[in-house]
Order: sequence, then C-alpha cells, then structure tokens
Amino acid sequence: HIVSDEYKLVSKKWKVKPTSIDLGDGIYIKDGDMAVIAGPCSIESEEQIRKVIAHLKENNIKMMRGGVFKPRSSPYAFRGLGIDGLKLWYDLAQEAGIKIVTEVMQVSQIEEMYPYVDIYQVGARNTQNFNLLDELGKVDKAVMIKRGISGTIEELLQSAEYVFSGGNEKLILCERGIRTYERASRNTLDLNAVPILKAKSHLPVIVDPSHGIGIRAYVPQMALSGVMSGADGIIYETHEIPEKAYSDGQQTLDFAQSSLLAEQIRKTFALR
Ligand code: PEP
Ligand code: MN
Repeated sequence: HIVSDEYKLVSKKWKVKPTSIDLGDGIYIKDGDMAVIAGPCSIESEEQIRKVIAHLKENNIKMMRGGVFKPRSSPYAFRGLGIDGLKLWYDLAQEAGIKIVTEVMQVSQIEEMYPYVDIYQVGARNTQNFNLLDELGKVDKAVMIKRGISGTIEELLQSAEYVFSGGNEKLILCERGIRTYERASRNTLDLNAVPILKAKSHLPVIVDPSHGIGIRAYVPQMALSGVMSGADGIIYETHEIPEKAYSDGQQTLDFAQSSLLAEQIRKTFALR
C-alpha cells in the first residue's frame, strides 16, 4: 500500500542505526569511517590496470574505481572495454585483494557483471533510470547511486528508495556535483548535501571531487572539504599519465598527487 510519494525506508525515521556496507576481507564503507576509492575514469588496458593496482597497494587503498561501460556525451568518444575489460580487471584486482567499483549502464549488464563487481555504480545520467534501479533492488551486491546531473537531494533519496524497497539494502549515496549556472567549473560540488543526506538518511555518503569540480589542481582541496563536510568516503580519479587518459584526464590526479591526497584524506579525517 502506497503511504507516501516521497521516501521512507532510506530515511533515519525508519532506521536509526547507520547502514554499514561490508565488502568482505575487513573492507567497509560505513559511518564513522573513511573509505578511499581511487582509479582511472576508464579501464584502458591490462598494463594500465596493473599500474593503478600497484599504486593503490603502495598507498593502502583497497577499493578501485574504473569504468568499462562509459556513458559519454559524444558517441564518438571512448566508450569502454566492456565485459572483457571487467573480467581482466577482476582477475588482477582479486589477486591484489582490491575491491571493484564500476558503472552499470543498463539492466542487461547487471547479470553479466555480477561475478566481477563489488559495488555497482549508478552514474549521474542514470540516477532516474527507474527500471535499472528496480532491477538493482533484486541483487545481492552493493550499489552506489550518484546524484543526478540536475538532481535534488530529495530525488537522490527517492532513487535510493527504489533500490532499497526492492530488497537491496546495501546502498551508498554519492555527491558528485550538479549542473548549475556556473560554468567556471565542470559541475558545482554541493557539499551542503553531505550533512543534509547524513541527517535525513541512514545510508553512507561519499563525495566525488573529481567530477564535482572537474579541474585536476583543485580536486585535492575539494576532497578534503568533503572529508570535513562529514562524508564517509571519497572517490577520485587517478592515472599514471592523466594527459593520456582516455577520458576525464583534465580532472585526473597523477600517482604522486594521488599518494599525497590519500595521506591527507586520512590525516584530515583524524581531525574530524
Ligand atoms: C564516472 O564516475 O566516471 C562518471 C561517469 O561519473 P558521473 O556519472 O558522476 O558523471
Ligand atoms: Mn570520469
């Protein structure tokens, strides 16, 4: 019976205790903790995967992001290595004890991706793909929902409600910036959303400063601002040679910048 057209199950009124996402091997995304998720925008090659994994290992980062199905504004841009890229990545990540966060773009991909992902990412262009959300509600695996390109906080929570009400309670919310009138940055990272989401919902909240500002030089300070805003984790883009990345190079940190940021994230979190 429909009692509300808003959201219910993802609210703090429904469940007071914060939801903790257990990815196995002692790796969590949860309230009171600081998850660091780093990796390239796109998975490009075996060599690239190996280099990123080695970098993550050196910095004790246990979750790797990367797209194999890429939603690109232009159909002529690189659209990802697809399921074969994911399988290759999985073998290497598995060996290294690293968890995989990757975008699912459509319903038909859920099943083929299932054995190889730890967190399904719902991209900003799919936040209101309600069929995709319904199907992810039936899956026994974590889902990270990014805020829609022009989505409100309320709409993000309603999207989460689709998945949660379908039976999948392993949900993470992600603030990644919204489209505003401001064009000096790629998006407007709305850090207001973090304390508001944390107050309204029991779900963990992470911040994506890379897509949020879209300018490499300013990613670190926005990441650290995200930490201080109360986020439970930070997800950012890194690549050995950002200038050569197949996508989003302009907002991607090189490994030296990434190492420094990972350390600063942990130090900043300790001050919170
Ligand atoms: C990404 O994470 O590379 C991505 C495409 O993000 P978003 O959906 O936030 O644009
Ligand atoms: Mn990207």
